[in-house]
Amino acid sequence: MINHPASIFKIYPIPAFRDNYIWAIVNINTHYTTIIDPGEAQPVMDFIEKHKLALEAILVTHHHPDHIGGINALVKKYHPKVFAPISNYIPHADYRLTNDDTITLNNTECHFQIMSIPGHTLDHIAYYSKPWLFCGDTLFSAGCGRIFEGTPEQMYSSLQKIAALPPETQIFCAHEYTLANLKFAQIIESNNIELNNYRKNVKMLSKNKQTTLPSTLALEKKINPFLRVDQPTVKLSAEQYCKQVLHNETEVFATIREWKNKF
Ligand code: ZN
Ligand code: FE
Repeated sequence: MINHPASIFKIYPIPAFRDNYIWAIVNINTHYTTIIDPGEAQPVMDFIEKHKLALEAILVTHHHPDHIGGINALVKKYHPKVFAPISNYIPHADYRLTNDDTITLNNTECHFQIMSIPGHTLDHIAYYSKPWLFCGDTLFSAGCGRIFEGTPEQMYSSLQKIAALPPETQIFCAHEYTLANLKFAQIIESNNIELNNYRKNVKMLSKNKQTTLPSTLALEKKINPFLRVDQPTVKLSAEQYCKQVLHNETEVFATIREWKNKF
């Protein structure tokens, strides 16, 4: 994996729907862009026209409509290459990716390593290019995705796989859920000082309608309860919620995920 000379790239969040981000990696020398999870086409078209870019590729993390809804129209207009996980629901995929595959985008000039991270959906993958991680709906800032297709065991091991990346990894999530997630995180760990400070920052950003992303893995490990199920405080909160003794990290994880669903 190459280290990016950061100055060649700009990464933009293109807001879509109510709280989605379609991420756009722009090579400022070549004027090519690669976009991740286009749930809608129009905001991407507006972005491409405004910045006078050529669309090299679309990367898809999973099959949900809010991540793939724009593919048809974008392919029709710009003919990009489409990279996607192995799934029956994703149209126009030229490349079907699985764990440890690598891809190269010659015009955007970047490489990605594919990580299989099932749980939210079974087909969910992440795109890693040091220091960037595009992780779709698996890890959010201060939270994680709902488990729609996988098991808590799968989701937890996918999050652990992400947690094993370098601390400086930048986390590009597909939704702006940070403020709502922090409200829940503070109930789990009310005395976490880092968490309280982060919430103050996020409140200010949200008030000014600014994005709270990308986050970093180092920060998430300090404030995200779903990456902190090994902490005695998180375990205790989970046990108090379910009124049972929990025996391992997966049980703690499953309990707080369940709690968050009802929160
Ligand atoms: Zn999703
Ligand atoms: Fe989504």
